[in-house]
Amino acid sequence: MKGVCALSLVVTGSIGIDTIIGPHGTVENVMGGSASYFAAAAGFFCPVRLVAAVGDDWPADHSALLSRFEQIDTAGLEERAGSKTFRWTGKYHEDMNIRETMAVDIGVLAEEIPPVPPAFADSRLVFLANTDPINQLKFAGQFAHADLIVADTMDRWIETQPADLEALLATIHGLVINDSEAAMLVPEAANTIVAAKAIQRRYDLGFVVVKKGEHGAILVHRDGLAVLPSYPADQVIDPTGAGDTFAGGFMGYLACSAGDYSVETLQRAMAYGTVVASFTIESFSLDRLAGLTRQEIDDRLAEMARIVRISMPAAAEA
Ligand code: AMP
Repeated sequence: MKGVCALSLVVTGSIGIDTIIGPHGTVENVMGGSASYFAAAAGFFCPVRLVAAVGDDWPADHSALLSRFEQIDTAGLEERAGSKTFRWTGKYHEDMNIRETMAVDIGVLAEEIPPVPPAFADSRLVFLANTDPINQLKFAGQFAHADLIVADTMDRWIETQPADLEALLATIHGLVINDSEAAMLVPEAANTIVAAKAIQRRYDLGFVVVKKGEHGAILVHRDGLAVLPSYPADQVIDPTGAGDTFAGGFMGYLACSAGDYSVETLQRAMAYGTVVASFTIESFSLDRLAGLTRQEIDDRLAEMARIVRISMPAAAEA
């Protein structure tokens, strides 16, 4: 699908320096961050406007890597003197569905988000990638023309800033989270689908997407449900950023859907998100995405469509 991108998309979130420890090795000080992964993925579908800050320790190599994603408009990226870039160290177990945060240096994420460039003010789709919910809320409030505001969050913010998160959830139209976060938001829920339905109703959201790692994703929409498996990847090198690139593919596709946010369209958007995420995990950091083409995404989507198709035998004639 080669969409016509009629609607502008803007994102804020973290731009990070990551250290990843896992069964396939350790990489130190590579480019990461929720907004970086998101923007790289969304850029396969449409131009994407990035508003975020890094510190004066931001490596030139990382700027060079970011500039390889030509669809990312970095007019809102600020290199802030005297501040430190967000840093994160994650460790994967042999079972790569299990990840531990070993170290976090929140750095510039505790400060104000840079001002929104005037040229970004007309953005119609807003994605609040994982960052401090106070900043997410302030950022969302700056887009008077937005018709779709979607957020992600993380255990850290659910635990440390529940009231700010409540305020955020009362403002947005859609939420994209993973299953452990859904369980934290609704601890009494018996399973993920119950939790997702409870979140959708509690905050009167248009939709909630819950990502379940290698077990796919579910959509609870005001008008119905959809489920999708993950792409059956047999080589996972580094799952970091899978969730953010899922969201990037999802929102990038929606930016091309002319304001149609129906269950069917969101289901297709989830399929694109799933496919982009399946490439992210094939390599460390944003390395695989940097060499990826839209054709590879579309080819894998076609394969995915064959994998999930359910063909029913024709009904017997009476
Ligand atoms: P994901 O694997 O999709 O959950 O995203 C991983 C990325 O999120 C890493 O590149 C980290 O730099 C970034 N990250 C980790 N913790 C946080 C946090 N608390 N706030 C914002 N970004 C984070």
